[in-house]
Amino acid sequence: MPHSVSPVGIVRSCFKEKFAIPRQPHLAPAARGVLELLPPFDSGDAVQGLEEVSHVWLLFLFHQALEDKPRLKVRPPRLGGNRSLGVFATRSTHRPNGIGQSVVKLDKVEANRLWLSGIDLLDGTPVLDIKPYVPYVDRQDGATNRIAEAAPEPIPVEWVEGALVLAREHALRLDEPLVELIEQCLAQDPRPAYQQPEPGRRYGARLWDLDVRWHYPRPGLIRVLEISPSD
Ligand code: SAM
Repeated sequence: MPHSVSPVGIVRSCFKEKFAIPRQPHLAPAARGVLELLPPFDSGDAVQGLEEVSHVWLLFLFHQALEDKPRLKVRPPRLGGNRSLGVFATRSTHRPNGIGQSVVKLDKVEANRLWLSGIDLLDGTPVLDIKPYVPYVDRQDGATNRIAEAAPEPIPVEWVEGALVLAREHALRLDEPLVELIEQCLAQDPRPAYQQPEPGRRYGARLWDLDVRWHYPRPGLIRVLEISPSD
């Protein structure tokens, strides 16, 4: 039974491109954004009571990964891209109907917008529904998942002095925890697990209105090289 859905809001996020977004929420608590509600949900009525809730489930569209033909098998990057699994055994972005779900922290409720942190959502992500996290139901004490048993071990992140000075200045300008955001995202090691980084190879991602560049001076260590305004 085909059924059409339409967004209740759009996320304005610190993540302006897919690369370097953490693979799940909460891995970067400093990742913040605002969910701007669309009419008729922006009058205040639809969010009444939500100020009593610390976290929400967001159901959203992977709008930059939509595909016409559903995949049955996927190769999650976190597993090195060499293990093929049934799509329903993964949290891959490539999935039937393109629907994602994340539990995120709700920092502030306004009539027409929700302030969020710990997000793993690209800027412009359409949100299809918002539901309160209910701890006594949603937390499953005995739950196991042998494919994804624990959060990946974070890798150390160091800075070139000039880049750190600039990051602190931009943090003040943006009024955002930018240094923490960069460190938390890069500590997840955004590069696909199968890529062996050469020390000379530079990687980059866009966070807020900034381009962040880094390299791997040796395996298992990231050094932030440069922060510059995005074009
Ligand atoms: N927590 C969600 C879930 O389990 O459904 C998302 C998990 S998915 C593995 C997380 C990745 O989705 C991020 O690293 C980012 O690259 C990607 N992503 C986030 N928002 C997206 C969007 N709107 N369109 C396409 N990809 C997106």
